[in-house]
Amino acid sequence: MSSINLIRSFQILDSRGNPTIMTLVRTDNNVGVASVPSGASTGSHEAFELRDKGRNFHGLGVNKAVKNVNTVINNKLKGMNVFEQEKIDYAMKELDGTKNKKRLGANAILSVSMACARCAANEKGVQLFEYLGGFHGFPTPLLNVINGGKHAGNSIAIQECMIIPDAKSFNDEIRIASEVYHELKGVILKKYGKTAVNVGDEGGFAPPVNDVEEAFRLVLKAVDNLGYGKKVSLGIDAASTEFYKKGKYDINGKKLGKAELLDYYKSLVKKYPLISIEDPFYEDDFKTTALLNKELRGKVQVVGDDLLVTSAERLHKSIGLKACSALLLKINQAGTITEANKACRTAQKAGMNVVVSHRSGETCDDFISDLCLGWHCNQIKAGAPCRGERVSKYNRLLILEQMMKK
Ligand code: PGA
Ligand code: ZN
Repeated sequence: MSSINLIRSFQILDSRGNPTIMTLVRTDNNVGVASVPSGASTGSHEAFELRDKGRNFHGLGVNKAVKNVNTVINNKLKGMNVFEQEKIDYAMKELDGTKNKKRLGANAILSVSMACARCAANEKGVQLFEYLGGFHGFPTPLLNVINGGKHAGNSIAIQECMIIPDAKSFNDEIRIASEVYHELKGVILKKYGKTAVNVGDEGGFAPPVNDVEEAFRLVLKAVDNLGYGKKVSLGIDAASTEFYKKGKYDINGKKLGKAELLDYYKSLVKKYPLISIEDPFYEDDFKTTALLNKELRGKVQVVGDDLLVTSAERLHKSIGLKACSALLLKINQAGTITEANKACRTAQKAGMNVVVSHRSGETCDDFISDLCLGWHCNQIKAGAPCRGERVSKYNRLLILEQMMKK
């Protein structure tokens, strides 16, 4: 038995400069440290992120969550076996006592859950991905190279325009992505000038365009300049709840109904090499999402983020309606490793793809890279190949692949 003897949390800053939590879990011989991320376009069904309110940090401090870890959670988990992840996670869930972890904060609970897994891996003397389930293969990366929506100061309604490289190895895919990213910088610079190559929250460019088609054209010009052609496909995260108002979708200067928006997506698929669409309709519209999934089946993966919020319960509903062909997996939407794992397994059992995802507010913690490998998920979305908190995820996988080759 490897007992937990101390848990300590600290308030640190995330990539947007807002407070978040870092937690340390200790046994007699080992420690595990982990930090939690934070979203901007958060789904209303996600687990609750506890913030201090008040004056400090514009109300975004996490001292209450830190205190919850250092007091009640520490007292409850002290003496528990660090290898019993499920027991630990359910003990915290029970201690919280609410459906969405509102009392103690999902940020507090998740930081402990992640740090326990790291500590347990260290206790066994293995890499985190080995502890979480072992190696199966490397994921395909989805890299957000043009930022819009809530992540950028431009007026593209669609939040993310991603490139999806296809090559023999993860290292090659990231090389292609990095080359396209820098070529794209040149394309944008030439057309829109210096201010257009500033980057958004996830490291992608935020050119002053208001239409995702123009974003596609810029990206495809970069791909074409490099001669990559079919090696690079496109993906979008519409994050459409953010532009859904009074029953209409406010996009490209028009107010579209759901049927018109569905036709719009279909026209994009016809015109461009678009193979992945996330959150095409607002966060409770399983039905229209299912319609799109039916019409594009075999050609395009339909990904549920705000729709599914990494919840096994919402996944069951989605599976029944065949709403999505992929789950976007964000551990802080669930609030514990165990619950996120349950969602992951539910999706995989139903034959869905699983896209492990960062948040727009991140730290340099690369936990999700190991989780992606250990849980045998086939895709990872961690922003542009730029900015420390984004590349930390890709770098961990780059290193592991090079190590394994040797
Ligand atoms: P968020 O964005 O972290 O701001 O929610 C990421 C996403 O929507 O996939
Ligand atoms: Zn999303």
